[in-house]
Amino acid sequence: MAAIINGREIAEREKKRIKRRIASLGNPDIGLAIVQVGNDPASNIYVSKKIEAAGEVGIRAVHVHLNNDISEDELIEKIEQLNRDERITGMIVQLPLAKGMNTQRVVESVRAEKDADGFTSLNMGKLFAGISGVIPATPKGIMKLIEETGIDIEGKKAVVVGRSNIVGKPAAMLLLRRNATVTICHSRTRELGRITREADILVVAVGKAGLIKKEMVKEGAVVIDVGTNRVDGKLVGDVDDDVGEVAGFITPVPGGVGPMTVTMLLENTLELFEKNKGG
Ligand code: NDP
Repeated sequence: MAAIINGREIAEREKKRIKRRIASLGNPDIGLAIVQVGNDPASNIYVSKKIEAAGEVGIRAVHVHLNNDISEDELIEKIEQLNRDERITGMIVQLPLAKGMNTQRVVESVRAEKDADGFTSLNMGKLFAGISGVIPATPKGIMKLIEETGIDIEGKKAVVVGRSNIVGKPAAMLLLRRNATVTICHSRTRELGRITREADILVVAVGKAGLIKKEMVKEGAVVIDVGTNRVDGKLVGDVDDDVGEVAGFITPVPGGVGPMTVTMLLENTLELFEKNKGG
């Protein structure tokens, strides 16, 4: 049976470390603006988790909650105000935005020095180029979870299923940076199972319950299940439960990648503060 990588526990430990780092700086005012448009139920949950976690470590979360009928230009104007606000050191725009909005244009309006999600093209480009910038929270958390297993990433075969800009692509880049041999799969990939079965490290970020079955996983593999799907009112990942019978290590859903994402957002916020104000 696979060992469970307990994301909740690791996230708690990392939060304590962040809190100590903030305390050692003399508990400065670190302001994280969380811009939310509308009332998407999942976004409401994620935003409240982020606000709560920020409070726990001593980061002042500012929830900028805007009506669904706001125009894209008005939203960008609001973000620009926050860009100018010296008491805001980090900012995120909760996604998804209202239908019809140009997400990339909105995200680009966040100043790169305040981009706590690392979604601006400048920070994405830095990740691609291997220059230090802001690393998106979910892939950053994924790497910490893999590190927790104690395996040596270098030279391993890593397969990332999913190629979104916020999870799949950056996760692949980070694995590449650590000298894994990386394959990226997506909806047009043929013979997915043949490819995933080769993986020593398998990261699945698709959003389809039951996509990864036991026979698609190599004996002893590290499996990181990023997916979040609601099935009969229950939260499940993309990986079938019985994959635990073959994998060496596996993340649960819930309690795996999710808590790490929130904690890595706080770490990014602190790092931006240290870089731009702290020193
Ligand atoms: P996207 O919808 O942006 O991307 C999904 C990716 O999966 C696409 O690249 C798509 O391919 C690929 N895909 C779709 N169907 C298949 C298939 N049958 N076989 C292989 N690949 C397929 O999603 P995100 O990256 O934003 O999120 C992925 C999942 O992770 C979601 O469930 C989301 O809720 C969850 N998530 C969880 C987080 C957490 O903190 N726990 C944070 C962020 C996301 P193509 O590009 O060809 O369309």
